[in-house]
Amino acid sequence: MILIVDDNQSNLYSLKKLLESKDFLVDTANSGEEALGKALKNDYALIILDVQMPDMDGFEVAETLAGYSKTKEVPIIFLSAVNTDKRFITKGYASGGKDYVTKPVDPEILLLKVKTFYNLQEQNVAMRKTQQSLELEVKGRRESQVTMKSQIDHFHLMLESLPQIAFTVNGDGIVDFVNGKWYEYSSSDQHFPQTHPDDFSIEGEFERCRKKGKALELEVRIQNIKSGDYRYYLLRVTPVYEGNTVKNWVGTFTDIDDQKKVEKEKDEFLSIASHELKTPLTSIKAYVQLLERRLKLDKESAEAGFVTKAQDQIEKLNTLITDLLDVSKIENGKLKINKKPTNLENVISNAIDTILQTHDEQNIKIKRDGIRPDILIPLDAIRIEQVLINFLTNAIKYSPKNNQVIVTTFVDEEEQEVRVNITDFGIGIPDFKQEAVFRKFYRVEESSLQFQGMGIGLFICSEIIKQHHGNIGVSSKVDEGSTFYFTLPLN
Ligand code: ADP
Repeated sequence: MILIVDDNQSNLYSLKKLLESKDFLVDTANSGEEALGKALKNDYALIILDVQMPDMDGFEVAETLAGYSKTKEVPIIFLSAVNTDKRFITKGYASGGKDYVTKPVDPEILLLKVKTFYNLQEQNVAMRKTQQSLELEVKGRRESQVTMKSQIDHFHLMLESLPQIAFTVNGDGIVDFVNGKWYEYSSSDQHFPQTHPDDFSIEGEFERCRKKGKALELEVRIQNIKSGDYRYYLLRVTPVYEGNTVKNWVGTFTDIDDQKKVEKEKDEFLSIASHELKTPLTSIKAYVQLLERRLKLDKESAEAGFVTKAQDQIEKLNTLITDLLDVSKIENGKLKINKKPTNLENVISNAIDTILQTHDEQNIKIKRDGIRPDILIPLDAIRIEQVLINFLTNAIKYSPKNNQVIVTTFVDEEEQEVRVNITDFGIGIPDFKQEAVFRKFYRVEESSLQFQGMGIGLFICSEIIKQHHGNIGVSSKVDEGSTFYFTLPLN
C-alpha cells in the first residue's frame, strides 16, 4: 500500500485517483502527525510526502520516520512546488527520502518513479524475509550442533564408564573414539590391539564385515602392553544405520579369559573322562557278545530279551561316549575328514536303513523325495552318514505325535552344490533359538525336560559340514515341525 501525505485535499484526491487507476492500493493522510500515526500502524511500500505542510513539514516527518525501525526502510518521494532549490533537494535526500518530485507533478514521471520504488521495496521486503529465514535456519543448525555435541559427549562418557574396552569407528572405517581402557592394549587410538599370532587379525576381519555392513563377533587373544600377556576377549562391532547406510560402528572388547580357562578345563575333563570310559565299555560290549554266543539262548526266551536290552543300552552309551570324544577332537582340531568321491545316494540309503532297523517298533515312515544326485561327490561317507543319522534321530525324537519324516535332495547347478533337507512334523523350535541349536551343549529349554540328550549332536554335525565347506541350518515353526538341512559342494 502507498501512503500519500498532503494538506491539500484536491492534491490528495487527484494523486489517489492517479495511483488507483494503475491498481495501487492507496491510503491518505492530511498532516504530518496523521502520517506518522498511520506509518507506525500499517505497512507501506512507499510514502509520497508533501514538503510544505503546516505544523510538521515533510522533512520533519521524514526524519521522524527514519528514527523508527518499522519505518526507517520505507522509501519516500517528496513533492514540492516551491523548494526546487538544490539546497532543499539535498535536505530531502539527507532526511531519509529517496527521491524528489517537483510540482506541478508530471503524472507519467511520478508513476514511473512510484512503480520503480514500489518494486524495489517489494524486492527489499522479500529479501529481508529470506534473510530472516536464513538467519533462523543458521540459528537452528547452530543449536542442533550444540545438542548433538552434548549428546556425543554424553555417549562418550557412557562408553568411558563401561567395564569393557569400547570404541567407535566412522563410516570410512577409521577409529574415531576410544575409551581409557583401550590404551592398556594399544598405544595408538588408530590401531586395534595386537592379536595372538595364531588368531585372526582384527583389521582383516573387521574390514570383511564392514564391506558387507554386517556385525562382527570374534573371540581373540589380545596383548596387554605392560605385561605382554595375552588375554581372551570377545570383540563385538555393531553397525549403526542411518536409513540404508552405515553411519558408524560401535565396538566393545569383553574380557572372557576366565570363562575360557574354565571351558578349557571342562573340555580337558570331558576328553579324559570319555577316553577312560571308552576302554571298559569296549570290554563290556565284547563280554556281552561272548556271553550271548556261549549261552545259545532261545530267541523267544526272556533271558535273550535281557541280553538284547543290555546290548541296546551298551550301544546308546557307546554313542554318547563317541560323541563326547568327537567334541574333544573338535576342540583340539583333531576331527579328521577323509574325503573320497562317493555316491551320496548310497550314504543316504544306508542312514535310512540304520534308522529303520533301530526304530523298528515305532513304525517310522521315511519318505525319500527330490532329485537323487547321480554323481560322485567328494565327502567322508562315515561322517556324512553320522550327520544324516543325527538329523533323522532328532526328527523322530522331537516328533512324539508324528512318525513321518521326509528326506529331500536338490542339486543346485548354479551354486555347484547338493542340498539335503530332513523334514519332520514335530514340536518345532522357536525362531530366536534356531541358530543356537548348533552350539555346543545347547538344548532348547522348553523341550529339554521331556526328551533326553546332551546337546552335542548338532554341534558335531555343524563341524563336520564346516570341514566339508558346506552350510548347515534349520527352518522351523513351533508345533508344526522343522527342516534341518546341509549343503555340500559338488567339487
Ligand atoms: P540333543 O538332541 O542330544 O539334545 P542335539 O545337538 O542333537 O542334542 O540338538 C540340540 C537341540 O536342538 C535339542 O536339545 C533340541 O532342543 C533341538 N532340536 C534338534 N533337532 C530338533 C528337531 N528335529 N525338532 C525340534 N527340536 C530339535
